[in-house]
Amino acid sequence: MSNTLIAPDSPLLDSCDVLIAGSGIVGLAHAVAALDAGHRVVVVERDSRPVGASIRNFGHVCVTGQAGDLAELAAVSRERWLTMAARADVRVAESGGVAVARGADELAVLEELQDSRPDAVRLLTREQIRALLGGAGSDSIVGGAHLVADLRVDPRTAAGTIATWLAGQDGARVHFGTAYLGTDGTHAVTSRGRVRADRVVVCVGHDLDYLYPDLAEANDVRRCALQMALVEGPGATIAPAVLTATSLLRYDAFAQTSAAAALRARITAASPDLVGIDANVMFTQRPDGRLLIGDSHHTERTVDPFLEEDTTETIHREICRVLGVDRLTFRQRWQGVYASSGRAPYLAADFGDHLSVRSVTSGVGMTISFGLAQRTFPN
Ligand SMILES: Cc1cc2nc3c(=O)[nH]c(=O)nc-3n(C[C@H](O)[C@H](O)[C@H](O)COP(=O)(O)OP(=O)(O)OC[C@H]3O[C@@H](n4cnc5c(N)ncnc54)[C@H](O)[C@@H]3O)c2cc1C
Repeated sequence: MSNTLIAPDSPLLDSCDVLIAGSGIVGLAHAVAALDAGHRVVVVERDSRPVGASIRNFGHVCVTGQAGDLAELAAVSRERWLTMAARADVRVAESGGVAVARGADELAVLEELQDSRPDAVRLLTREQIRALLGGAGSDSIVGGAHLVADLRVDPRTAAGTIATWLAGQDGARVHFGTAYLGTDGTHAVTSRGRVRADRVVVCVGHDLDYLYPDLAEANDVRRCALQMALVEGPGATIAPAVLTATSLLRYDAFAQTSAAAALRARITAASPDLVGIDANVMFTQRPDGRLLIGDSHHTERTVDPFLEEDTTETIHREICRVLGVDRLTFRQRWQGVYASSGRAPYLAADFGDHLSVRSVTSGVGMTISFGLAQRTFPN
């Protein structure tokens, strides 16, 4: 597949074995895997630093929640994140996740999963959950589970740290402020000149349609917009990523239990506000103690950039109910956007030996990207 925006006489910017377009977590994971497989790598990123979905998320490496193929990718990714912690000083916490249950139907989902995966899921009492929440947590909590394999990374710093580390490696270069425009089979064309590359791997997330609209349309890749906020913490150290009932309906390992049907019916009837914004109510703590809270989901080819105050308030209210507090003090609000497809959780398309496209299309890029990259560049 070629792109028509080619300027054959543009200057030569660089040369490499593998050119990666995009420095989000998908691109960076592929760059690391290509380097480890012995290739000379160039990353081009149109912005002056990573600012896409990869820095706007919860930083939850949600290993336990995945099933099937995604569980395999997540398991590989988990090991790679730990390796990157040692190699590149990326902040990775082996804190696990905690699923907080406030109803018997939520506990039933967790119990069923624990039966099939006893090593991955540890059922906890209310007091044990509160201990994991650093003493925080409302009286409505009836118990829950520790999801032991989950990791937490700091999303604000992880991608930038990996990019800086990559730029310092022999055999790797990173060009910020450089947009990938297309390839003619031997050279990639960028906004700063051509790059001689044997292989190009396009990892531009939800902006795939700007480059390859037919591919995006054929795979039903659209944009999913999510509302997030940063709030002051409750004064407790909350090490794990914290999931609630709506998360149990979103991630396959929970959602595929037979107990999930009753939970879904109850949430649909009792919490139309959460259903209406397609909520996954959860939070993680940043190193400064503040909480990343979210989120809602709205999928369209082109999404409105406007944040809905009612949506933020619905999420805020639900998180207050989990923490047992009246209000949380807001410090930031933002919209995150990721690639989404109803067809498949990720897109891996290869066009001959020269051009590949990789995009995580299910909102789990922090969880599976390193596994996906390992498949693209086995070593
Ligand atoms: C609010 C929110 C919460 C989430 N929470 C989680 C979570 O807790 N756990 C989890 O596993 N996943 C989570 N996700 C999903 C995860 O963040 C994404 O799946 C992942 O970040 C996608 O990575 P990416 O590299 O494809 O995209 P991005 O991070 O968006 O990176 C794409 C990059 O490509 C660049 N680019 C685009 N076009 C060009 C071009 N032509 N040339 C050069 N560069 C280009 C962009 O500037 C950008 O830097 C969340 C997502 C959001 C939005």
